[in-house]
Amino acid sequence: MKIICIGRNYAAHAHELSNAIPESPVFFMKPDTAMLLKNNPFFYPSFTRDLHYETEIVIKISKNGRHIEQDFAHRYYNEISVGIDFTARDLQNNCKAKGLPWEIAKSFDQSAPVGTFIKLDTLPDRENIHFWLDINHERKQTGTTRDMLFDFNQLIAYVSRFVTLRIGDFIFTGTPAGVGPTKIGDHFEAYIEDQKLLDFNVK
Ligand code: MG
Repeated sequence: MKIICIGRNYAAHAHELSNAIPESPVFFMKPDTAMLLKNNPFFYPSFTRDLHYETEIVIKISKNGRHIEQDFAHRYYNEISVGIDFTARDLQNNCKAKGLPWEIAKSFDQSAPVGTFIKLDTLPDRENIHFWLDINHERKQTGTTRDMLFDFNQLIAYVSRFVTLRIGDFIFTGTPAGVGPTKIGDHFEAYIEDQKLLDFNVK
C-alpha cells in the first residue's frame, strides 16, 4: 500500500507557511513504513529539532482505479479517519531552499499516525466534516473539510491521472492552519465530529 499526501489544500495553511494557493493539487507520498497504527507511541526522531504536527482527514481507498472521473470518485472510498502528517520542518525548509525534494522531511518511519476508520455514511454532513487535534488536552488545530481547496473527489480524480490507486491506500487530504511543533511527552488526541479516533504519546 501507499500513502498519498496532499499539500496546501487549505488556503489559511498555505498562507501561514508563505506558500502560494495552488492551481491544481500538490501531492507527495509516504511509504508504508511511515504508517503508525493502533495508537502506538511515536518516537521523536533524532534528525530533527523542529518536528511539526499537521492534522488531516485521511480517506481509505476501497476500489482499484486509475484515470477516475471526478463524478465517479465517490465510489472509491467509504471510510475516513484522522491522521498526523509529521513533518521535520527544519529539514523541509532546507530542502525547499535548495530546490530539492522534501522526502527526508516527510517520509520517515512513523511519520503517519492514523486513527480508527469510520464509515463516511455515519457522518451528519459529508461535505462539512469537522475535525480537531488536542495536545495535552489543549485544542491545537481545528478544521472542516468545507474549507478544502480541492475536495475528496477532485483529489482522487487528479491523483489517479498519475498514480493507480489500490484498495487500502490512504490519502491524507491536507492540513488546516495551526500547525506547530511537538515535543517528547506530548499526548495527542484527534477527533472527527466528537469521536476520538486517534490517541498516542510522543516518546
Ligand atoms: Mg500535510
